Amino acid sequence: MTIQESLQQIRPIWVERIAHELASGEGVRVGFMEQLDRFYDMLEQTVATGNTAWLDPILYDWGHSPTETNLDGGDYYVSFVMNRIIAITIDVARETLSKEDALEMIAAITPIFTHSLSVVVRYEMETRVARISNELNKAQEKLQQLDQSKSNFLSVTAHELKTPLTLIEGYTTMMVDIVEQSGGQSEIDSLLKGVNTGIQRMRRIIEDMLDVSLIDNNLLKLNFQPLWITHLLGLLQNELKKVIAQRKLNLIISEFEGWSMMLYGDSERIYQALLNVVTNAVKYTPDGGMITIDGRMLPGFVEITVSDTGIGISPKDQATIFEKFGQLGRTNLHSSGKTKFKGGGPGLGLPITKGIIEAHGGTIWVESEGYDEVKLPGSTFHILLPTRTEASDPRVAKLFGEVDQNKSDTQQSTI
Ligand code: ADP
Repeated sequence: MTIQESLQQIRPIWVERIAHELASGEGVRVGFMEQLDRFYDMLEQTVATGNTAWLDPILYDWGHSPTETNLDGGDYYVSFVMNRIIAITIDVARETLSKEDALEMIAAITPIFTHSLSVVVRYEMETRVARISNELNKAQEKLQQLDQSKSNFLSVTAHELKTPLTLIEGYTTMMVDIVEQSGGQSEIDSLLKGVNTGIQRMRRIIEDMLDVSLIDNNLLKLNFQPLWITHLLGLLQNELKKVIAQRKLNLIISEFEGWSMMLYGDSERIYQALLNVVTNAVKYTPDGGMITIDGRMLPGFVEITVSDTGIGISPKDQATIFEKFGQLGRTNLHSSGKTKFKGGGPGLGLPITKGIIEAHGGTIWVESEGYDEVKLPGSTFHILLPTRTEASDPRVAKLFGEVDQNKSDTQQSTI
């Protein structure tokens, strides 16, 4: 018997057996039998011509047919069906044909079935990958929406808080004036000072919330002007003088190449960024420790480093501290004074710092061996700022066109 004749002979039993085993319910079975007939026609064509391409269209349809239930359940249903078809074909051939005819037919169709199985597996895998990447895209969209809502919430809340705070501030100032005019009552005076400190801190937090939403929405506007790092460090040293003395810390500002170079940048914003990093160094270094500000020139950039001998940062936290609310989970740190040892805040300082530096075309990162309150491994923050020596806005360039690069040299000695 030829292989074609063998195939013809087993066909009705083959269709019946497979449909019975793999399709439950009359309706499903009829549809499935049509599919099996289509497959068998193509199988016969393939055997006759030796070209497996005949089977490809139906294998393509099958491979892309997993239902939502199959995909949700993670089962490879089509590959399973193909495997069963192969096994049942061998059984039916053995039962229906002579030993020789069965062997001959199985030998002829085995490579075709192997090809079919690999094609079906590939198509089924593609369907699955497409589905997973679709789900990932949806999850990503959802995350972006959530992040946007968080950012909008921040900005609306900050604006809402600002109005009553301004009122409280106004009334407190009036009360201070009245107390002063009436000769001053030291007790009330010191109470009012306490209220004022609270107001200032609250104002800073609100400003931070607004800054984060500006950065998030790419709305941070930079006012590019000539600046000298040495000036900013001088101001910073002055601002932190009192707390450095209180906490018995040692702040060392080394003279480094590039510190007196004129750069274009937003000096207020860069000062804010530097102040955040150095204030953190103060906060996370125990009394008596050392904070060193140093730097160097790199091609196209000036690098500023802020190192401390503090508690350090674990590798896990190093990955999250630059993200907004990266520290929200650590409620034990939320207290607290701005410069008190380990006095945590809302965790907005470093995200703002990163936003400011990146808006200038720079970058910031941290190095630390880890977190250890006993061994105090310390941390080093690296800030890279582009050495922009020309204003991008021609009006600014005109305004500051005559700034002398070395003009600030005489002012360096203030540090
Ligand atoms: P905040 O200080 O308000 O919590 P920041 O964004 O300024 O928020 O800092 C985020 C976190 O990074 C801090 O809570 C702290 O855990 C960690 N951190 C920042 N700077 C240092 C540092 N110099 N040493 C150790 N930990 C630091």
